[in-house]
Order: sequence, then structure tokens, then C-alpha cells
Amino acid sequence: MSRPAHHRDGGFQNNHGDFEPKSLADVLRWRWNATRQGLPKRPVEPIPTQPADLAFLHANRGPGQQPAATWIGHATVLAQLGGLNLLTDPIFSERASPLSFIGPRREQPPGVALAELPTIDAVLVSHNHYDHLDLPSCRALAAQPGGSPLFVVPLGLAAWFRARGVSRVVELDWWQSETLSGVEMQLVPANHWSARGLGDRMKTLWGGFAVFAPDCHLFFAGDTGYSRDFADIRERLAPRQQQGGFDLALIPIGAYEPRWFMKEQHVNVEEALKIHADLGAKASLGVHWGTFELTDESLDEPPRQLARQRAALGLAEDAFFTLPIGGTRRLTPRGR
Ligand code: ZN
Ligand code: ZN
Repeated sequence: MSRPAHHRDGGFQNNHGDFEPKSLADVLRWRWNATRQGLPKRPVEPIPTQPADLAFLHANRGPGQQPAATWIGHATVLAQLGGLNLLTDPIFSERASPLSFIGPRREQPPGVALAELPTIDAVLVSHNHYDHLDLPSCRALAAQPGGSPLFVVPLGLAAWFRARGVSRVVELDWWQSETLSGVEMQLVPANHWSARGLGDRMKTLWGGFAVFAPDCHLFFAGDTGYSRDFADIRERLAPRQQQGGFDLALIPIGAYEPRWFMKEQHVNVEEALKIHADLGAKASLGVHWGTFELTDESLDEPPRQLARQRAALGLAEDAFFTLPIGGTRRLTPRGR
């Protein structure tokens, strides 16, 4: 069998475009300009937060569960569907960094603390960047009472988890799936990259997830630039989507400035709306904002942009919304 197009010697590449991770010179140019211009500006409004409905979240597992999504912060979402509790890209730490004393600091506490979480059945990890793969959070989850959740990760990361004591892990290539208690989790392409240190660029895979449960079809984009991948995903998964598209898509709307640096790896709000349309999602939740100051736009800018551009497109507020950190959106179960 021939090698998949996104595989290359010793690593992986994107499907579309000639993506190259930025050079150190580009990083320095970005940081120099940002510092000179005083970017990012501090937010003018507080990031909305609310106490999570812990009683609901804890009771909402197994038979009788109502599909629901709770934004914990950044790309961390508790997705309750198919009777299970899924967690995307869990980060509960103070910093998104290899070191506990340096790197982007958390601006708001997690909407649900690690110790307050209901039992997690599976953890979906989109890629190994520090703001998406946080080792202390994964270790704490692996040690939850009742046993470790199943960690579903992109190709090349299972050994990394096992070497760190997280052994209930399965790794997937794009389009491969793992099924847990009738819930199918499929890794799908994204336009991004990977690295945790020096010399490991694009050596492990990155991606998003399509999750199929009888009561809810969920999409999680991970980190991504805009590409034709989302139209491809819709086309390829259309036979699965008998009752319309994904019931909910989790799409990043933050970490996009400056465009010359970020465009190939992080969508801006305009492109996030295009992904929503390309997927044919029934509703989308904007994530990857408001939690860590990673880039040049203000922490509170993405939802303002979203409101403006959504209105310009004539989209209803519910079609592509944000939640307060700690907020839950309950969904109508599929087929009802
Ligand atoms: Zn990333
Ligand atoms: Zn990220």
C-alpha cells in the first residue's frame, strides 16, 4: 500500500498548501513588533465567566443523558454525548508552557476545576502544543477515581503518553476511528503543525475529531488554519450525517494576530465562520480564546468580531455562539 499523502519521512505534512512552520527570525520579528506596538492590548471587558452547574454535569452521564457542551476555557470542552463524558484538549494548569514559571499565564481559572469534573470516559487530544497537551492535566485525569479515561491521540503520541505513565491510550491516523461504548471518535485533518521542543517539528500528527454518538454528532477542530480540509471532511463524512451536519462544532476563534505570522496555523473569526459553513454544522461554539494571551489581538476581541461578522452574514446568534467560561449549552438530542 502506498504511503498516505500527509505522511513524509520522519513526520507529517498538511494536505493543502506549502505550510512551513515559521523560522526563528520570523518569531523574533513578530515578538519585536508586538513589543514595540504594545500588543496585545489588555482587554477592555472582563472575559465572561459563570459558576458551572456541577449538579447537572455530574448527573448527566449514562442513560437519560442530555447532549451538552461546557466550556472550561481555551480549547477545553466537556462534551456530554452518547451517555459518555468527553474532554477535549484538557489544560487546567497555570501556564501553557513546558516550564511552570514562564510562558503564557492563565487569565481566568478553569470553568470546572480538575477536582470538580465528573468521571471522564475519553480525552481527545488534537496535537502536542502546550496549550492543548498539558501533561499535569493528563496525568491527573489518568489518576481519576474509577480509572483512567481513554486518551485518543494523533499518530506518534501514544508512546509519549505511555512513557509518562498514561497507558490507556490509542493513537489514530487521519480518518481512523476508535469506538467506546457506541461512540465513534474519528481523527480528521487540520491545517497545523506540531512540536514540543527543538528538533521535533511535525514529527507527530495533529488533527481534529469527528465524534458520532446516536444522540449527537460533534466536531472539534483542534488548532487549524483555513484550508479545503473542511469541505473535504463534509464531503467524506456526508454519508454519516443522515439528519444534517454536525449538531455542534467546536471551532477556534482566537490567537490569530498578526495575520502574516498566524494565518497558516490559526484561523481568524472570518475563517472560523467559513469552516462553520464548509462543514454545514447546525451550530458552532467558538473556543480557543479568552484564557491565555498567546498572540497580538486582545483577549476579548474574538467574540466582538464574531458578533459583528455573524450579523453581517445574517446568521442567527445561536448558529455560532460563545459561552461564558463555565457555561453549558444543552442540545436537542439527534433524531428528536
Ligand atoms: Zn497548536
Ligand atoms: Zn492552540
